[in-house]
Amino acid sequence: MSGGREPELAAAVANKVGEGPVWLVDQQRLLWVDITGQLLQWFDPATGGVESLAVGRDVGAVAPAESGKLVAAVGDGFLAVDPELRSTELVAPVEADQPANRMNDGKCDTRGRFWAGTMGYDLRPGAAALYRLNGDCTVDTVLKPVTLSNGLDWSPDDRLMYYVDSKTQRLDVFDYDPDTGALSNRRTLLEIPEAEGLPDGLTVDAEGCVWLALWGAGRVRRITPAGKVDRVLELPVTQVTSCAFGGPDLADLYVTSAAHGLSAAELARQPEAGSLFVCRPGFKGRLPNRFRGCI
Ligand code: CA
Repeated sequence: MSGGREPELAAAVANKVGEGPVWLVDQQRLLWVDITGQLLQWFDPATGGVESLAVGRDVGAVAPAESGKLVAAVGDGFLAVDPELRSTELVAPVEADQPANRMNDGKCDTRGRFWAGTMGYDLRPGAAALYRLNGDCTVDTVLKPVTLSNGLDWSPDDRLMYYVDSKTQRLDVFDYDPDTGALSNRRTLLEIPEAEGLPDGLTVDAEGCVWLALWGAGRVRRITPAGKVDRVLELPVTQVTSCAFGGPDLADLYVTSAAHGLSAAELARQPEAGSLFVCRPGFKGRLPNRFRGCI
């Protein structure tokens, strides 16, 4: 556990694109991905140890399932992962006819559905979408067109969904129906000028504020439901990708990062690029949701 309010190194892992942190309550470990490094990774704060599992394809996001398995969003769809057997099975293809796209950020909702979006490797405008894996392993297309589907999470009362399509340079919010999963009334909560970074992954804390990672800017911002920035965390690396609360009291904020996109000179200045960071910013997160159903 970190004692500091400012982010410090948790695990020096040199991920290509570290992303998708999620706290595993029953294991008291952090699970996250290296997207283009094609890894699932587990960090144990009690020992400082990191375990990893190569999944053989780009992996954009991962979440625990109630069965003990994991659900992952990969290059061509949704993958069931058995971490004990170290086996994988594609359970629902997504955009399998579009090899120029891959799946990206995702998260489980309170009803046990797993939401994840896609992106074109070349970031072609409008080439992507946001999908939802249901408990019976059917897939709904939730939102399109999208260019670079990224962070999403829900308000504590389950009536709002926050969402980032990075290339819009916006944090948006929808009204949300938790029973049907329907989104409506999309509006912009906060615009982020390009000079302040690319909006990337996010998590909503217990007070309903959004912690948003800003790629390229080395920052995580806390944004109130009214769209006001009331806290900024500075990282020692620029390619900040996402964050999630963990720890026994859900008050440790883990922040992932990437080495992708940095020149040799920049990497020399940021030797911790791609590592996992942690701090105790003085706020608490919420219990992560788990996938419920066919995995
Ligand atoms: Ca991302």
